[in-house]
Amino acid sequence: MRPTGSIIAYWMLAIFPALMTDAAHAEPQLFRVSTSNYDVATDVSMDLTRRVAAEMEGIHAEYMRRFGRFANPAGARSLVYVFAHEEEYLNLGGYALKGTGGFFNAGRGHLAAYIGDRTLPQLFRILYHEGFHQFMHARVSRDCPLWLNEGMAEYYGAALPTSKGYETGDVAPYRIEELKECLKGDKFANWSRFLLITSEEWHAARETPGQAGVNYLQAWSMVHFLIHGRNGKLTPVLDRYIDSLKRGASKGESMRNAFGSDMLRIEDEWKDFIEGMETSPRYVCWDNLEFVATILSVRTRAGGRPKTFEEMIDGVPIERLEGPLKLTTCYGTEMSASTRAELEAICRCPLDKNAGKEKARGKYSYIFSFEDGPDKPPAIVCPCHGLITYEAKLNAREDGSFYVVVSEGSGKARAIPFEKAQGGKPGRK
Ligand SMILES: [Zn+2]
Ligand SMILES: [Zn+2]
Repeated sequence: MRPTGSIIAYWMLAIFPALMTDAAHAEPQLFRVSTSNYDVATDVSMDLTRRVAAEMEGIHAEYMRRFGRFANPAGARSLVYVFAHEEEYLNLGGYALKGTGGFFNAGRGHLAAYIGDRTLPQLFRILYHEGFHQFMHARVSRDCPLWLNEGMAEYYGAALPTSKGYETGDVAPYRIEELKECLKGDKFANWSRFLLITSEEWHAARETPGQAGVNYLQAWSMVHFLIHGRNGKLTPVLDRYIDSLKRGASKGESMRNAFGSDMLRIEDEWKDFIEGMETSPRYVCWDNLEFVATILSVRTRAGGRPKTFEEMIDGVPIERLEGPLKLTTCYGTEMSASTRAELEAICRCPLDKNAGKEKARGKYSYIFSFEDGPDKPPAIVCPCHGLITYEAKLNAREDGSFYVVVSEGSGKARAIPFEKAQGGKPGRK
């Protein structure tokens, strides 16, 4: 999601709570599910309501892995709304939210999002992000410095559901590129200034083109570094900072309590850490899928209709090509293959535990899926990502060529116990 939207919402609602429509008025019959930590209401379906509740509980467990020491007040549940359309979302939150996908209302303690034309994983990412603001507000601090609040929300917003819980800490290639550019252009604030940034300064950054994005990027990268840098040995610094906020200490005091005289050294280390950052495997897989789907698009256009993934790859006459197969992916990665071995490496997911073991899944990780029907080009699917599948699809242009779209499939719902569920008609006003 674009974090800019969510923070605008966060701020507007914090300052102008009186502008909001009363939730009761904007709430026709909704589907409702309650779990240990959440009351979820949607106007979509009971299935979706359960799915959202399961995602919220799942990401909550991930928040708790780091913040488990801040106990939940007994019986307190957080309220989450998900609407199918923007209209209902604005009815609840107010027109000031136009252009945002989700918000946390600090005054009322609820969060809301709408689906519109988002995929489910895109919706869930908004919920993971806003859900952290809600969690922070309820459990830790109502006055959390924005660098930490947004940095952590961005960190959880990129979480990936897997069969063993949520994976956090992945780094996308475009983020690395932006980080290095900002460092080179001296666009980041000194830590001693950034940790003291006020809400007014944070929000005023929206007036300078690009500056809001730079602040989010710096906040995320600092959080990411404090968690993963120096092999995780800096997490006590982050914990001390958060514990200090919990005790009600000011931003400045918390900064001194946590960093002491080490601030400059840690800041220098953060710069080195950025210089050495590498793309996480899941994003390498996306690039691979885009590359391989581009080969499929060429073969499909030329009239070839391979029935299996192996058939397609084996049909690429790579040794007879004049030059290498080349592609700049949507993440900006330059990729090429000029030998059979290089091409085969691109057909493997870095997370495939069976890669190279011919007997297990063959030499390739990816498979064809004909879910869109036998007449359509198959989707190329990677099944190595737990609850989510990654897939590359060919979309036809009018001139008969194709463009490739890589996305996350909606995956499977995780099972969790529900305390109660209550149906209703989807409410359209
Ligand atoms: Zn946010
Ligand atoms: Zn993969």
